[in-house]
Amino acid sequence: MSSNRKIGKVEIEPKPGFDWRRVAWGAPNSPVRDLCAYCHGKLGDDSDPTLMFFKEDGSRAEFCDRCVERWWS
Ligand SMILES: [Zn+2]
Repeated sequence: MSSNRKIGKVEIEPKPGFDWRRVAWGAPNSPVRDLCAYCHGKLGDDSDPTLMFFKEDGSRAEFCDRCVERWWS
C-alpha cells in the first residue's frame, strides 16, 4: 500500500512512521469529537481541530496540534 493517500483533492503524505490504521475515522455526519483521531488526546476546548481529513465517503478525522506537528509539519 502506498503511503500516499488521496483525501479530497489534496495529495498528502505524512512523515514516515505514520500509521493510517491507527486513525479513528468518525462516521459521516457525526458530531465533531473533542478527541484526536490519532493519539486520542483532547483537542483544545476553545478552538476547532487543527487539522481535519475527510474521506470520499464522508468519514472524518481530527488531529490535534501535537500530531500535526509530529506527522504533518
Ligand atoms: Zn493527536
